[in-house]
Amino acid sequence: MSAPLIDIREAWKTYQVGEVLIPAVRGVSLTVSAGEFLAITGPSGSGKSTFMHLLGCLDRLSSGSYGFEGRRVHELSRRELARLRNQRIGFVFQSFNLLARTTIVDNVALPLIYQGVRRAERRRRAAEMLERVGLGDRLRHHSNQLSGGQQQRVAVARALVTRPGMLLADEPTGNLDSKTSTEIMGLFRTLNEQDGITVVVVTHEADIAAYARRHVAFRDGQLVQDRSGASAA
Ligand code: ADP
Repeated sequence: MSAPLIDIREAWKTYQVGEVLIPAVRGVSLTVSAGEFLAITGPSGSGKSTFMHLLGCLDRLSSGSYGFEGRRVHELSRRELARLRNQRIGFVFQSFNLLARTTIVDNVALPLIYQGVRRAERRRRAAEMLERVGLGDRLRHHSNQLSGGQQQRVAVARALVTRPGMLLADEPTGNLDSKTSTEIMGLFRTLNEQDGITVVVVTHEADIAAYARRHVAFRDGQLVQDRSGASAA
């Protein structure tokens, strides 16, 4: 059997604020295979964001080990972490973080500049991804001419244009109404089921988590539940 995509063992993350130590993630172990659709849930303050930062190589473990695509992430330098993050992980956040006066095709192509991809190829791949998220007819629109749901679709296309090993979404529907939230979660599901993209969504909303096929729940910095099964959505 091939190695899991994610293999985290006994992960701890402790913040220090002045003299006070705050253990935000306490001894979490988790393995995720390529192609899974995972939701991470839990009440506010339970450690979800901290854990997502560890998964996304945005922050480092205080102790424990983290394997991602066979790399020993906990041993990488900050520079190596940044490189891994830029090349292998696609991020989607609550705020869409698009450049307003730039066409959406250029917004999506942006990450490819850092990978040294040539302009024509960047445009081609960006257009292909925009087509995939249902915006193939809007390539020349500026992002501030789009609705919130369309902007989040652009953000998803930008996250995937580098063909990352995982799409990591942090409260991706937090700024969207319920109908648009349903569309975005439906898009994640399609990308997961049809394109085999591994999706990890962090959310405090049960109806958003319901789109995932596996649910892990955090409480007080610990992973307290890990459940697979048909979703309700
Ligand atoms: P959630 O995403 O589930 O709301 P967080 O991971 O943001 O939870 O927070 C977990 C705990 O860690 C909380 O007690 C929070 O106050 C604390 N925490 C999070 N980030 C920091 C930080 N940068 N510095 C100090 N404490 C933090």
